[in-house]
Amino acid sequence: MDACDVLIVGGGPAGSSCAWKLRDSGLDVVVLDKQHFPRDKICGGWITPAVLSELEIDSRDYAHGRVFQRITGFRTGCIGGQMIDTKYDETVSYGIRRREFDEYLLRRSGARLLEGVNLTTLERRDGAWVANGALRARLVVGAGGHFCPVARLTGAKSHGEQAVVAQEAEFEMDENQRAGCAVSPEVPELYFCSDLKGYGWCFRKQNFLNIGLGRMDPHRLSEHVSSFLRFLNSAGRLNFELPHALPGHAYLLYGSSTRNIADDGMLLIGDAAGLAYSQSGEGIRPAIESGLLAAKAILGAQGRYSREVLEGYRALLAQRFGASEHWATRLGRHLPSRLIQALGKRLLGMRWFASDVVVHRWFLHAGEPALER
Ligand SMILES: Cc1cc2nc3c(=O)[nH]c(=O)nc-3n(C[C@H](O)[C@H](O)[C@H](O)COP(=O)(O)OP(=O)(O)OC[C@H]3O[C@@H](n4cnc5c(N)ncnc54)[C@H](O)[C@@H]3O)c2cc1C
Repeated sequence: MDACDVLIVGGGPAGSSCAWKLRDSGLDVVVLDKQHFPRDKICGGWITPAVLSELEIDSRDYAHGRVFQRITGFRTGCIGGQMIDTKYDETVSYGIRRREFDEYLLRRSGARLLEGVNLTTLERRDGAWVANGALRARLVVGAGGHFCPVARLTGAKSHGEQAVVAQEAEFEMDENQRAGCAVSPEVPELYFCSDLKGYGWCFRKQNFLNIGLGRMDPHRLSEHVSSFLRFLNSAGRLNFELPHALPGHAYLLYGSSTRNIADDGMLLIGDAAGLAYSQSGEGIRPAIESGLLAAKAILGAQGRYSREVLEGYRALLAQRFGASEHWATRLGRHLPSRLIQALGKRLLGMRWFASDVVVHRWFLHAGEPALER
């Protein structure tokens, strides 16, 4: 039987960041993923600058041969309503393609990689885990995304979880499509649904276009997506035929998960732990930060992987992301939906609110510095 110290299940941003942080620790780290990289991942591919500094990514090195779109502003508003441009004199975000970004992070993580291996069983034997009956590990890190098998096999229940559901398409535009695309690559467009339960986006990354819509309500998602795509055509933002059916995925916002993120010999990170920012749905940065914090907790545990010792990870997460969900989300659940709609529409139409609150605070988390190395 093969053996390792730390088995990370899932080679997305959470798993590869955790492995990268452990690269010089002397621990034998394996990252197992059911897919071969590069692989596609349903995602907008918008990242904030903290991600680059936390992972010590040299942007010039990364941009070589990969899509790397600088973003200097956002256009926000309600679908069909007045749009407001918030512009900056500097780069405030980037657009990447997940098939490129995730492979880059995984290959430089320094871990042993097991690609194309689906985790199907996880058994506890003599104080260690045995994965697929073939790989023994003292510690397992669940980084398998929303449907993470580690979370499921160690007892997480999806019942009662209120997930964000989203559909998205990304494709390279041909010459005609590029000519018919009114969206500026430096200024992605965000269109909030009238009931404020989600938003659609239109995001040009060099010659690639990423369009999609996510909602906190699973009902009639495809109808919302279709009507958003029709709107983009009728408003003249995209003057070419758009795909009819978009693939979908789900994930949890911070504060909405009841999953047990730390137990004997087990930690959950990234979407497996349900950590995306509640106002924007940004999940890549929390996934990376949780991977780095999990690595810190693992190093601090010095080989003692009991639940009591690993509880330190829970404390690190609470310190970083707050003890519970955001007050605005909590408040939103108690206000009548008509009031939210009326208030939201008015606020989103006000320049200060769109710029200072929505873009600056909620989307860019401008007041929150990157994790210290
Ligand atoms: C439509 C959409 C748009 C989004 N847009 C953005 C955005 O623009 N910016 C942003 O910050 N966030 C965005 N998010 C959220 C973001 O995609 C996630 O938060 C992020 O991918 C989480 O990273 P992760 O490493 O935890 O999981 P993932 O990226 O999901 O990686 C999990 C990995 O685990 C592997 N795996 C799963 N099951 C198994 C198994 N049984 N055995 C072995 N391996 C397995 C998978 O193959 C995968 O490689 C978006 C999400 C959606 C759905």
